[in-house]
Amino acid sequence: MEAVELKQKHKLLKTWDYNWNPLDRGYTDKILYLNLSTNEIKEKNVPPMMKEKFVGGRGYGLKLLWDATKPDTKWNDPENEINISSGPIGGITQYSGTGKSICVSISPQTDIPIDSNVGGFFGPFLKFSGFDVIEIQGKADREVIVFIDGVNHKVEIYEAPYDLVDSHILGEILTEMYADDEKDKKNIGVVSTGAAAGKSLIGMLNFSFYDSKRKLVRLKQAGRGGIGTVFRDKKIKAIVCKIPGVKGNLNNVVDLEAIMERGRRFNKEMRDFDDSQAQMRSKGTVHLTNIMNDYDLLPTCNFKYGNHPDAYRIHSDVYKERFTQGVPDGCWIGCNMSCAKGVDNYMLRTGPYKGQNVIVDGPEYETASSLGSNAGIFNPDFTIEANFYCDTYGICTITWGTILGFVMDCYENGILNDERTGGLKLNFGNADEAMELLHQLARGEGFGLIAGLGVRKMKEMFSERGWGDPQFLQDIAMENKGLEYSQYVSKESLAQQGGYAMTNKGPQHDEAWLIFMDMVNNQIPTFEDKAEALHYFPMFRTWFGLQGLCKLPWNDVEPANNAETDEPAKVPEHVDNYVTIYKAVTGNTNFDKYELIRQSERVYNFQRIFNIRRGYGLRKHDAQPYRAAGPVTPEEYASRAERYDKQMKEIIGVDPEGKSIEEKIAITRKYREERYEQLLDAVYLRRGWTKNGVPKIEHLKKIGMDLPELIEIIKDKQE
Ligand code: SF4
Repeated sequence: MEAVELKQKHKLLKTWDYNWNPLDRGYTDKILYLNLSTNEIKEKNVPPMMKEKFVGGRGYGLKLLWDATKPDTKWNDPENEINISSGPIGGITQYSGTGKSICVSISPQTDIPIDSNVGGFFGPFLKFSGFDVIEIQGKADREVIVFIDGVNHKVEIYEAPYDLVDSHILGEILTEMYADDEKDKKNIGVVSTGAAAGKSLIGMLNFSFYDSKRKLVRLKQAGRGGIGTVFRDKKIKAIVCKIPGVKGNLNNVVDLEAIMERGRRFNKEMRDFDDSQAQMRSKGTVHLTNIMNDYDLLPTCNFKYGNHPDAYRIHSDVYKERFTQGVPDGCWIGCNMSCAKGVDNYMLRTGPYKGQNVIVDGPEYETASSLGSNAGIFNPDFTIEANFYCDTYGICTITWGTILGFVMDCYENGILNDERTGGLKLNFGNADEAMELLHQLARGEGFGLIAGLGVRKMKEMFSERGWGDPQFLQDIAMENKGLEYSQYVSKESLAQQGGYAMTNKGPQHDEAWLIFMDMVNNQIPTFEDKAEALHYFPMFRTWFGLQGLCKLPWNDVEPANNAETDEPAKVPEHVDNYVTIYKAVTGNTNFDKYELIRQSERVYNFQRIFNIRRGYGLRKHDAQPYRAAGPVTPEEYASRAERYDKQMKEIIGVDPEGKSIEEKIAITRKYREERYEQLLDAVYLRRGWTKNGVPKIEHLKKIGMDLPELIEIIKDKQE
């Protein structure tokens, strides 16, 4: 369908004009509220308390969601919201990684708030149009498109009565339709999803960015937790934002020169060290694939193993050759890390777009693993094609790959068979059948629909139907809180087990990644050390989501002298960059690296109490599947028998000699499960929580987050 044809189909349902004011020190202090049930559009002021305690981004999204929902609001109730916000630093162009947005909603997968961060243009463009956050409530009774016109200062809702939904087409056509000419395309940001989002619980959102060099619309994903499913349930086809252009100092920061100075320093580090450090500019995050394989950390066959002899086929050098080199691949203006790599002119071999040449955004590391080794598939063409289809169909590649691993493990163990899968032979490594499962989901057919429910719901369904041993299903189902694990093997890192299963939203590595500190470098040997790391790093990383920042420039390149600093894992010079930039944007001089952590701690504890308000957020919800902690099967134990036997003898103090493999699995399991419980105790203590994982009132007072509505939820849970 052409843009002209599409435009003729749109029917205006509502238009609303607003007064635009320039930003002031990173903020507009305005909320754009839409109710799609009634087509109400209005502007609300950000209350001073909200700005002070919740800062922006994830904080704003959570606060609005708390106010708008009841404790028992379901994901598909009209009052559930999708809130998208960048943050005060979001949208500056003088430092790398400053264009992120955070999307927040009640998740269809977890029944608690999900926060998912994403690059692309929309978040900064929303700010430049006059709003710190968009709050979308209600459900449309027909397919709609929302248009935020930051040029003429109006917001419009259009009926969009056509079938087209897949993101790679919709993003392209809507960009063309709303741009005045080719040059204007860089002023359009589109949020969309795809066909599979509306037929599953694992839908994600695509945020577009216009690649002027390639003259193509490209996509970045808010992947985790099913927000794309909520988007389709509200019958939103797309949200489009248009601005007059990006130039100079649109954030109206207080001290632009201070930001530019840090930006220049960082850019020099990228020029000097990227090639010898992470190679982000040539490989993106996929540089991790072989490193993870070397350290036995690359999820393989549903997280059974951490490496594989065929992993050389998905080595980062293989992907480097597939990625177009020498083009600026920043997903926001001014990002010198430039890691948004892409495969150009990829000819699709399957599915509805078979035979077409497309650009594939990625694969990133998580996709190379999830749609590769975790399914026992070591074929980059499968991974690239599945990456494309997950994106355009609107589902998360991490989630889908962990689902695929689980389904294949069930098939290999006889829990699933041809009759139950509708004829699909889902052995590890079967790329053709795996691809067909994905297309089935997008068509809303067969076993694809069951897979689209996610690992937790499948586990429950299979148990109820008597398919397989419930305990075994529990052990191999790589989910916590209803969210699928992201792509690192945590068996040998107790701290990372906590970093995954103690998260607020479910096991996603954006909260804590401690494997190297813990397992490889042995820098945090005691429970107290691990607890300190599981306090500092989740809080530090939360801060990026309050500000509109990308985490990657923090530690994917390091200053020359970083190893000689007191705390190299924290990258102190970069922390100082962020403190400087925050002060330079907002003019808030009462800020340092300690207040940075406190800002996050307020929002982090708020989110924990939000979970508790909804009946979750307690110790039992931080339990992990045993496969995240140790070997479930004799096959797994035998594959690393030397390591496990040595640990049994030297650490547990039991002689493995003469013991059966089942006995050894049981001894190892008892030890590891006890250690995890001890870790929970230590971390809760450090975080100021009770033994049941509930924030203590005295702790909330200490961090300035003792809001009456929070105290009300936790006051009888203090023991
Ligand atoms: S580092 Fe990569 S993901 Fe982050 S903003 Fe830059 S290009 Fe985007």
